[in-house]
Amino acid sequence: MANTQAFYAHLNSELQSIREAGLYKSERVITGPQGAVVHTQDGREVINLCANNYLGLSSHPKVIEAAHEALRSHGYGLSSVRFICGTQNLHKTLEQRLARFLGTEDTILYAAAFDANGGLFEPLLGEQDAIISDELNHASIIDGIRLCKAKRFRYKHNDMADLERCLQEAQAAGARFTLVFTDGVFSMDGTIAQLDKIREITDRYGALLGIDECHASGFLGKTGRGTHEYRNVFGKIDIITGTLGKALGGASGGFTSGRKEVIELLRQRSRPYLFSNTVAPSIVGASIAVLDLLEGSTDLRDKLEANTAYFREAIQAAGFEIKPGTHPIVPIMVYDAVMAQKLSARILELGIYAVGFFFPVVPRGQARIRVQVSAGHEREHLEKAVAAFAQAGRELGLIKA
Ligand SMILES: *Cc1c(COP(=O)(O)O)cnc(C)c1O
Repeated sequence: MANTQAFYAHLNSELQSIREAGLYKSERVITGPQGAVVHTQDGREVINLCANNYLGLSSHPKVIEAAHEALRSHGYGLSSVRFICGTQNLHKTLEQRLARFLGTEDTILYAAAFDANGGLFEPLLGEQDAIISDELNHASIIDGIRLCKAKRFRYKHNDMADLERCLQEAQAAGARFTLVFTDGVFSMDGTIAQLDKIREITDRYGALLGIDECHASGFLGKTGRGTHEYRNVFGKIDIITGTLGKALGGASGGFTSGRKEVIELLRQRSRPYLFSNTVAPSIVGASIAVLDLLEGSTDLRDKLEANTAYFREAIQAAGFEIKPGTHPIVPIMVYDAVMAQKLSARILELGIYAVGFFFPVVPRGQARIRVQVSAGHEREHLEKAVAAFAQAGRELGLIKA
């Protein structure tokens, strides 16, 4: 039998092979709050284009004040799961407010959206049922589906004909209930799921429809409700999961929203809810303030939309190719992994922080810099960013001089 020393040697060799494959992920340390501009450990100030801080709320004064207020009124933490002594009036309020915002009946909070997806499928569906999933769905959806005994079907990304093939196969397999589940927005390309078409198809087959709104809640659609509003199927989605850790404040926490009986059963059976601590009061109080802001005015999502349109236009005018679309996720296509890393390193020297994505995060030969525009950006930030991309792109021969 191998000894423990061999185990640690094995881990070191695994780590070495990750490094040698060029896939090692290192973490850049910033020394202050998240925002349009962040400070790096070497004391530099850089414009940040890679946070999920879509509405600039991560360090918004009203959000910070609401967190302080809840900390004062409801304490630091609850030292409990929800069903023992971890539920405050604040938690019940936030759940109701999220349901109203999303156009559903009720909501259940989790420590993270990863947990919401991880604990969603197993309590609701069994062996007799089927789950149909877009092949590019988020890792947490894939893991959640693995924990469930339902039959699994996977359709080609965003391919409606292939979705229909899966529905036919599920039907032929005699599935009792069928749930189609998709990201509302796919984070690598900024692709917005065709929920209007998916709803029409699922209705024809009598299937349920669930969506993960992590990259949509708070800003997509005319009043920022999400992909269902953007695609004109607001109020017609069976299950919505999402995060408090991106546009809706950026701290942490997740949720599942839907019909009363779905939420009620999740409270009884969903393991990450039953066996993990309640969301901290400061986050819950701040999230209620976020919903106050977003229901009171569409200014932030409007500014994000204008910033996104400007950046998409300007970066193309500078000679770069981007994935077309309207989402604030803007993939600047470089194709080559080494070149993507060089471009990212050079723009950082020029004061712009945006990282390269390459295999295995995106398919081989599809390397890119993924920019995420924010309502926290002023026009000047975006102009500087485009100028830096243009300079670096010319130096590296990516665009014409
Ligand atoms: C970020 C993300 C998650 C995880 O959210 P957390 O609240 O950080 O756990 C889940 N699904 C999608 C699509 C995401 O982008």
